[in-house]
Amino acid sequence: MTEFNLQGIGLTSRRTRERLVAHLKASGIKDEEVLDVIATVPRHIFVDEALAHRAYEDNALPIGHGQTISQPYVVARMTAALLGSLRRAGREPRRVLEIGTGSGYQTAVLASLVGTVFSVERIRDLVERARTRLRAMDVRNVRLRHDDGNLGWAAEAPFDAVLVTAGASHVPDALMEQLHDGSPLVIPVGRGDVQQLKLLERDGDAWRQQTLEDVRFVPLVQGTRL
Ligand code: SAH
Repeated sequence: MTEFNLQGIGLTSRRTRERLVAHLKASGIKDEEVLDVIATVPRHIFVDEALAHRAYEDNALPIGHGQTISQPYVVARMTAALLGSLRRAGREPRRVLEIGTGSGYQTAVLASLVGTVFSVERIRDLVERARTRLRAMDVRNVRLRHDDGNLGWAAEAPFDAVLVTAGASHVPDALMEQLHDGSPLVIPVGRGDVQQLKLLERDGDAWRQQTLEDVRFVPLVQGTRL
């Protein structure tokens, strides 16, 4: 868990962030822990300065390389699904794997709710930019890796939960193999622009599967890029 250092980051007014939280509540997000974190993470530092004035709208925004920072509603929904599953299983969220670091915003949200976040991103420039932002905020419980997230992070497995923030055509085997029994995997699955957000829970060799809702993510692709 982490406390953010917001010195020198340029605080948005509390009212702007509270307006976003009120909107998320009205959209059906009930998890108070998640809402509290969304109210504190400065989303404007995860986008280019030219877009900072739009950072507290409930929209995805471009972050370069054809990628996007996820919509706050979707970040909240996925995080709440993951925490809810862990609570039901009576499992502490100590080590959580994220695939698709992107801007690092979802990473920062997770970092204030779980023990350590391990996050994998295939575009090196995005890894470096996310690293700089998280350092500036004094987030210390995050490890970033430039790699193909389809492989998970074998050396650090098993994880208490896995969250994928890119649309997968299928659920990668490695991610299923790197979870503890009873642990959740939250992943958008689908081949087109629209995917179905799934919550999978490992139960020995079997998997319980629940479809949460339709979402729009950039695709989970194979391999790495500079
Ligand atoms: N959670 C991010 C969302 C970024 S968009 C945020 O809030 O900013 C999805 C990210 O997944 C992109 O940065 C993209 O480069 C990355 N991605 C796509 N395929 C990947 C793969 N195979 N391994 C790791 N990252 C991948």
